[in-house]
Amino acid sequence: MTAGAYRSARDHGRDLVLDADVVVVGSGAGGSTVATELALSGLRVVVLEEGPNVTSAQLGAMRPSESMRHVWRDGAVTAALGLGDTPTINVTMGRCVGGSSVLTGAVCFRIPDPVLGEWTRELGLAGYTPRDMRPYFEHVEKAIHVEEVPVAMRSRSTKLFVEGAARKGIEMKPMRRNTKGCDGCGRCNFGCPHGAKMSVDVSYLPRAVVAGADVWSHTLVERVIVEGGRAVGVRGRLLDGEAGKAKSRLTVRAKRVVLACGAWLTPGILRRSGLGHPRWVGTGMTLHPGFRVLGRFDQPVDGWKGALQSAYSDQFEREGITLTGLFVPTGVLGATMPGVGVEHAQHAARIGHLAMFGGIIHDQGGGTVHTLWGRDPVVTYRMAAEDRARIPRIATLMAEIFFAAGAREVFLPVLGMRGVTADALAKVPWEKIHGRRIECTSQHPLGSARMGSSEHNSVVNGDGAVWNVPGLWVADGSILPTSLGVNPQLSIMSVATRVAWTMRDARG
Ligand SMILES: Cc1cc2nc3c(=O)[nH]c(=O)nc-3n(C[C@H](O)[C@H](O)[C@H](O)COP(=O)(O)OP(=O)(O)OC[C@H]3O[C@@H](n4cnc5c(N)ncnc54)[C@H](O)[C@@H]3O)c2cc1C
Ligand code: SF4
Repeated sequence: MTAGAYRSARDHGRDLVLDADVVVVGSGAGGSTVATELALSGLRVVVLEEGPNVTSAQLGAMRPSESMRHVWRDGAVTAALGLGDTPTINVTMGRCVGGSSVLTGAVCFRIPDPVLGEWTRELGLAGYTPRDMRPYFEHVEKAIHVEEVPVAMRSRSTKLFVEGAARKGIEMKPMRRNTKGCDGCGRCNFGCPHGAKMSVDVSYLPRAVVAGADVWSHTLVERVIVEGGRAVGVRGRLLDGEAGKAKSRLTVRAKRVVLACGAWLTPGILRRSGLGHPRWVGTGMTLHPGFRVLGRFDQPVDGWKGALQSAYSDQFEREGITLTGLFVPTGVLGATMPGVGVEHAQHAARIGHLAMFGGIIHDQGGGTVHTLWGRDPVVTYRMAAEDRARIPRIATLMAEIFFAAGAREVFLPVLGMRGVTADALAKVPWEKIHGRRIECTSQHPLGSARMGSSEHNSVVNGDGAVWNVPGLWVADGSILPTSLGVNPQLSIMSVATRVAWTMRDARG
């Protein structure tokens, strides 16, 4: 077996034509998993990635603002436009070798059993019971070294929230993360400087390269080549022009094509190629809309010390709510504090006294990916009424927990609202607060090319194969048919492993 290589198209300067058994488009959680499994099975794999290839040392040397420019999509300002009373949602993604996996907080969850039950019973997907999925979960967990975060590594911010939750009888559980030798430095969302986060660029792709895969960064795929109704390769551009703009042409011919550009971008390639059921391509996207609440304490919290994400609660899953620990860099936090001038400076000076916790909604698919004339889509999102009603509940719940822990005031996710005291919490006029004023983020776009039981209700079958297009698979977050209510990387990688093993075993 001849080893492959990491290659950059940045300085290539002329058209590139490649030939492979499998071409995988996108090197994120889904793409790297499929590429590695298929390379290890002896297939010649080419991985195409639009973003740059960045080492741990380079990630560690970047300031957060530099990291956002270099390895985050659109400098981290991508948004799903809220329709009606829905908040506009800031959706962040990675754009580099390793994709969004490089930016995670390393939190790992299996697909919850009730979600697999829904896929099996209500959507008619075969092969997705908890028992069916266990080998895939175990395989991925071993490959990315999933371990429980020790209580000793919890930040004071998380400890305070857990104390408050205990006083209110709410159970908090330790998180599991894909780390090895983590020192709790808290830089996870800007890429781990120590290679301790087992993102796919660290845990998967190097094995693919040893097994012969070539990983091309700065390659932008535009469409799938179809001949005689069969996918036979992809076409696109090399980002080898000035400032990484497209210049030379790219053609890869392959017996099998796997799209793994993430739920935001995979629908555009399918549409531009005229593939996939038009009713389902780009519709029904879920986002896990997320909200954070800050609690201000008399004593110093220094919430940036310790693991960022170390505890969660699924006690409210029946209400479609999961509470999950988090902390954001102080610079970003400062920018979210209310007031201007002296008032803002006073708030910013007390950042060391702030604790933070987050909550996500297990949402229904309200997102639509619109493909326009350019490459980048416009995404709209209309929140289901039940999900919209959960926003006051999730914010109030976290605020009450902080007050139980002794917070003086809380900052709710409402733009323009000052700190709220315990007495004032019950009086917040939620019914008058329009969605536009609510601060909402997402890191989990899913479900825009969903799998299902028939070509009439989905884009791909349960094995990730696009209905009626031999030679074409999708293996990223876009094929998950519902939201999960928990962070999705392990779920995406487990489903991608299933896709890869089915492809491998079906090889003629
Ligand atoms: C800040 C942040 C924190 C997160 N934290 C967690 C966490 O703690 N736990 C968790 O479970 N999940 C977390 N997630 C979510 C998780 O990272 C994603 O759900 C997962 O990586 C999605 O996998 P994917 O394969 O669908 O897409 P991605 O991992 O996003 O990969 C898609 C790749 O395709 C490339 N691409 C797109 N279009 C093209 C094209 N036309 N040509 C070539 N390449 C293309 C992109 O540049 C990207 O690299 C986080 C995400 C972010 C952004
Ligand atoms: S906290 Fe751990 S995983 Fe995160 S960046 Fe630091 S060493 Fe890496």
